Amino acid sequence: MPQDETPTSPPRSWVEIDTAALGHNLRVSREASGCAIMAVVKAGAYGHGLETIARFLESEGVEFLGVANIGEARRIRRAGVLCPIYLLGATWELEREEIVARNVTPCISTLAEAQSFSDIAARHGVTLPVHIAVDTGMARGGFLPADVAASLTEIEKLPALSIEGIASHLSSSDEDEVFTNIQISLFSKTVAELGGSSRFRWIHLSNSGGILAYPAGPCNLARPGLMLYGISPIPQFQEKLQNVMSLKSRVSLARTVPAGHSVSYGRTYVTTRPTRLATVGIGYGDGYPRSLSGKNAQVFIRGQRHPIVGRVTMDQIVVALPDDSPVTSGDEVELFGANIPADEVAALADTIAWELFTGITPRVERIYHGVAPL
Ligand SMILES: *Cc1c(COP(=O)(O)O)cnc(C)c1O
Repeated sequence: MPQDETPTSPPRSWVEIDTAALGHNLRVSREASGCAIMAVVKAGAYGHGLETIARFLESEGVEFLGVANIGEARRIRRAGVLCPIYLLGATWELEREEIVARNVTPCISTLAEAQSFSDIAARHGVTLPVHIAVDTGMARGGFLPADVAASLTEIEKLPALSIEGIASHLSSSDEDEVFTNIQISLFSKTVAELGGSSRFRWIHLSNSGGILAYPAGPCNLARPGLMLYGISPIPQFQEKLQNVMSLKSRVSLARTVPAGHSVSYGRTYVTTRPTRLATVGIGYGDGYPRSLSGKNAQVFIRGQRHPIVGRVTMDQIVVALPDDSPVTSGDEVELFGANIPADEVAALADTIAWELFTGITPRVERIYHGVAPL
């Protein structure tokens, strides 16, 4: 192919990812939990870029990377990451061959699943490490506490599995202290009855909320996700964490429109006087939620917050400026980040920071500070 000599423009919208802040938040998860860390990198490392973040976290010495599916594990392995990978949920039959072939550690929810993994591993001539999942009140998977002892006895007879860990998952660690304590007690009791640390190399339960607000109990491994990416699910711990991701764009146009001028689709906003407006090149096609329309959501330009007026469109939003504003075409705009917290934007959009982060679309370029991108 002939080389493309056409000049390349800077990106219209981008996220900046501060890996030093990610490293800080990793140290906070280590200190708060007192555990080894399974860094959760599912959903493209919560939108931060799967391969680059997995490589960075491996270099920071995490014990495991946690993924949602084998496709994510495949991408991480192809990026040259050797760190153990754990699959956070139940699997179905046609995923298991590759899980075994790539030596990814699954969690086991049923005897049938265990049997199937053992058969495949035996065929491959390998022993597959697995963790036993216990359902203490989330119901996405795992053995019920009453059944786990008998099932474990059966699983231990399977020739090609080695039981390396036991796990459960907190359903409400950021909203229900009473139920979270019930889950922690139930898991502690279950693990103790099964033999505790003499039987399991890894014992794990906590997500970010659990790590920040609850004791580790019998656990020696913790599974932080959101907190690594700079947001505490429980506001009182936010100050411990550093901002990792900033979503940015640029002003494409700034000018004054007359009084009585309607703004954006559906004309939900009409100026009451001559108004200076800035058009910014980002919209729901970039993952900036359309549900922010009409919510007085703000953006940050030249050191100040400014409100969005009218609906968020696919590729552009309109921001109202003071009459004497110096804001002009080309100015950088922060949609969320160090100055406008992502959880504030998520709440206005009637969602959560997890969804806001994972919703940033591929059109938005990821720019890394502190590591070379892959
Ligand atoms: C996503 C997930 C986590 C991480 O949760 P955060 O709330 O983002 O810290 C931990 N464990 C399991 C099983 C998960 O699915």
